[in-house]
Amino acid sequence: MKDDEKTTANNIARKQAIVIKGSPISPGFAQGLTYIQPSLLGPIDVPENTLQHNAEEEFYRLDQATAKISDDLLLLAGRVGKEIDERLAEVFGAHRQILKDSSLKEELRREIVDNFVTAGSAVKSVFLRWETRFLLMESTMAREKGDDLRDVSLRLRNALAGITVHPLEAIPEDCILVTPRLLPSDTVFLNRRSTAAVLLEYGTMGSHAALFARQMGVPCISSISAIIESIPEGVLALVDAHEGVVTVNPTRAMHAIFKAKEQQYTHTLLVAKNDAMKLAISQDGVVIKVNANIGCHEDSAKAIENGADGIGLYRLEQFYMGRTLPPSCDELVAEMSHVLAPFKGKPVCVRLLDVGSDKPFPFIGFLAETNPALGRRGIRLMREYPGLLTTQLQAILALCDEFDIQILVPMVTLPHDMQFVRQALLILCKSLNIKPPKLGGMIETPAAALSASLLEPYADFMSFGTNDLTQYVFAADRENAAVETYYHDSADEIFRLIALVHSDVPNMTLSICGELAGRKEHLDRLLQLGVTSLSVAAPLVAIIKQKIRQLKISKDIGTA
Ligand code: PEP
Ligand code: MG
Repeated sequence: MKDDEKTTANNIARKQAIVIKGSPISPGFAQGLTYIQPSLLGPIDVPENTLQHNAEEEFYRLDQATAKISDDLLLLAGRVGKEIDERLAEVFGAHRQILKDSSLKEELRREIVDNFVTAGSAVKSVFLRWETRFLLMESTMAREKGDDLRDVSLRLRNALAGITVHPLEAIPEDCILVTPRLLPSDTVFLNRRSTAAVLLEYGTMGSHAALFARQMGVPCISSISAIIESIPEGVLALVDAHEGVVTVNPTRAMHAIFKAKEQQYTHTLLVAKNDAMKLAISQDGVVIKVNANIGCHEDSAKAIENGADGIGLYRLEQFYMGRTLPPSCDELVAEMSHVLAPFKGKPVCVRLLDVGSDKPFPFIGFLAETNPALGRRGIRLMREYPGLLTTQLQAILALCDEFDIQILVPMVTLPHDMQFVRQALLILCKSLNIKPPKLGGMIETPAAALSASLLEPYADFMSFGTNDLTQYVFAADRENAAVETYYHDSADEIFRLIALVHSDVPNMTLSICGELAGRKEHLDRLLQLGVTSLSVAAPLVAIIKQKIRQLKISKDIGTA
């Protein structure tokens, strides 16, 4: 621990008020009792108790867990084969074979007996040994086998630890969640709770934790060093996520100052909400559509309440990630129609599944890659497994009568990415005898921004995903706080790319759905570049509309 961290820990032990600084990544004020969640990454190792070791019992637990995982894999293979791709389903068969391997079983039993360890520990060390053996081999096939082993090992250890629910499903309502980091798959579970605020050690402005928190309207502060040691469990904390300040065990005077600030902020929000249902028209008469980014029904309810003109980005991943089996077309239709229900009669834009990279494919761990952000994500994965695309397109088309629907393609890099989806869409529409909905491409790779005119023939509109665009322009992982100084989503480089796209395809409808669109201080510059619609986290819609009304957009400027 560093000196200032030690002082913090001492003050906390003496129940003195303590002020901790971090970086605000989702605005708002909150107060509540802290709830510490040390790790969300798989089962936590428990200390071994060699004195009470009972090998027979551990063998029994291991057999039970193996049988359960084997059944789960069978179910998963059936669903993945039907809804995604037969080739992917076959891999689960291979995973079941691993579980049946007699030499593996023997080695696991030997580990339990020889080292007096639990079945969970034995799985961890034996699988690691096997995995290392495969990973050291030259052939790609052998290395893929290493990934398979890691996948099976994790499933088995979770089953042995009795983990059937995600740890975040158990957190108390209205708490201040304190945890080192949140992965996108974690946020799905948090979504189902009402959390007052989130405090993190890791997480940049463009990270999924940040955008999730903004989407939920949950105040969030990150970059709090040694967070688990610095903040104790069950104490009152005041969170000011405008300044990035957390006050633990506040004095009365601190509480009073906090309350005054909070009231002032609530008043500002109320004023913005009063006009939220009206259009956002700038001082010089330019109408800017302000849509919402959503991922679930709670988000769309918030979006309507905050006056969103439509949905600019419906992230389907949230639904996929909260499930143990991939959804069928009917389940997808039911979910989408529930989520979009408040937006009947308004334009809604569904983004095709953008898994891969930091949002791992929920049912399939074995697609792990050495450099996932540059690997198979978004449209790349759908091109490899077209069944995945077909299920989504069929579900979207089934809703065309009910909703004014548009489709957005994630992670476009090559014109062929767009052409591929366009073609699949046309074939399906022809067979159903319906008019194809509008198809847009996300501009979130430098290649897409630099080749907008080549994408133009296949795209009816384009939407800038500035979160990823920034990550790829600056070669800085959006989830990695260590390279935060390189991740600069409002840098000139990003504005220049937006201006370039506008000048290359001047007739294209351009929107921004990355987090940059929700930052008031950059709005005038953005709107001068030819962007005519924005899509922001639902709780920010009213505030952004209010800001647009104060701006003068001189459309003929058009340069960065
Ligand atoms: C983006 O990259 O800016 C974007 C909107 O997509 P996501 O944040 O879901 O990757
Ligand atoms: Mg993106």
